[in-house]
Amino acid sequence: MTGTTQDDYTDRYARRVRGMTTSEIRALFAVASRPEVVSLAGGSPYIAALPLDAVGEMMGRLATELGTTSLQYGIGQGTMELRERICEVMSLSGIDAATGASPDDVVVTVGGQQGLDLVARLFLDPGDVVLAEGPTYVGALGVFQAAQAQVRHVAMDADGLVPAALEEAVVAAAGRAKFLYTIPTYQNPAGVTLTDARREEVLDICERHGLLVVEDDPYGMLSFSDEAPRPLRSRRREGIIYVSTFSKTFAPGLRVGWVLAPHAVREKLVMASEANILCPSAFAQGAVTQYLSTMPWREQIKTYREIYRERRDALLDALRDLMPAGTTWTRPEGGLFVWATLPEGLDSKAMMPRAIAARVAYVPGTGFYADGTGRQNLRLNFSFPPPDRIREGVRRLAGVMEQELAMRAVFGPTPPPRRRGHAGADTPGPDLA
Ligand code: PMP
Repeated sequence: MTGTTQDDYTDRYARRVRGMTTSEIRALFAVASRPEVVSLAGGSPYIAALPLDAVGEMMGRLATELGTTSLQYGIGQGTMELRERICEVMSLSGIDAATGASPDDVVVTVGGQQGLDLVARLFLDPGDVVLAEGPTYVGALGVFQAAQAQVRHVAMDADGLVPAALEEAVVAAAGRAKFLYTIPTYQNPAGVTLTDARREEVLDICERHGLLVVEDDPYGMLSFSDEAPRPLRSRRREGIIYVSTFSKTFAPGLRVGWVLAPHAVREKLVMASEANILCPSAFAQGAVTQYLSTMPWREQIKTYREIYRERRDALLDALRDLMPAGTTWTRPEGGLFVWATLPEGLDSKAMMPRAIAARVAYVPGTGFYADGTGRQNLRLNFSFPPPDRIREGVRRLAGVMEQELAMRAVFGPTPPPRRRGHAGADTPGPDLA
């Protein structure tokens, strides 16, 4: 089939694939990764902070000394050794034997992302409703969309998900909601955290309505203080599927995450995973197991937290000093992201080409909603760029916003048409075509 075009395939795609479109993040990465661009767009941990030599030696030994198992197939659920280690990690957040957590109910996955995909495969039929924070994690939206589910967003404020809005959404879904998908701690993208009082309220509402909770917790251990809220799963034994990952506490390149499922669900979860990937990588599991057994992983998490706290401060200070009046933003107590709300009339998606031309990248808020809202918002990452680059990025962004506001004052709320492929009259920059 040489010379075929996209159109030749359009009618062949399965229904679940037809709604797939390029995500904002994917389209941006190509441009944002150029060295001259300050990227506040990604979500990458600062891997340079790892002791890479020691990790390299450890992985070398994993091949030379343990290669006959680490380079072999494994079992679908993941190795017992790693599942035991995962239980030790979870016990630091209060998810322990006393709350019913056991290695038997842990399923090792290819990152948290596969965990979310498995949950969707298990519970979602086309047309089912998923309740999720608005905004929510773009990768989860992709999973729910591929399952042909309908995402209904539930409002958040600085204290996280709003319980009254959740109650209303559950009632409005009239029994069609399969689960609540939530990132209660250091949320991606909003950077907010569900308060303790609200955690109980949210759990009570879900219990009362028989609504399953999918708790996604990649950032819970990345607190900027000594007080981190306890996960939902540490508060209830049943009714919660807990998803987490080593991507943010160790390294995303290994692609190791896990699901802690209610006992009744675990078997189906393993079957779904086997159908999907046969088994998670024995080598990657071995690397995480060795890392947790022989290296100072708790110290490493502390290192990440310190680096990110410094960078969070750099971002918040720069926003305070440089943003135009009318801009607001969240103040994360952990995690990787700040969520900003632009002054009335600015459109983060429309502004993006000019921002790239000014050599700064962010993710427009629309990527984090299933319904196209979020034009007045953007997500800023502070884990990857060093503090001086963060400040420079905010300076560039503020310049673009000032320009947009000035144009708006002259031309009114609708920006004048721009020539295609041109990044802006007075800021010629990289070709965005
Ligand atoms: N959930 C959330 C909220 C995330 O932000 C991410 C990654 N950015 C994931 C899940 C998936 O992470 P991974 O597959 O790397 O474990």
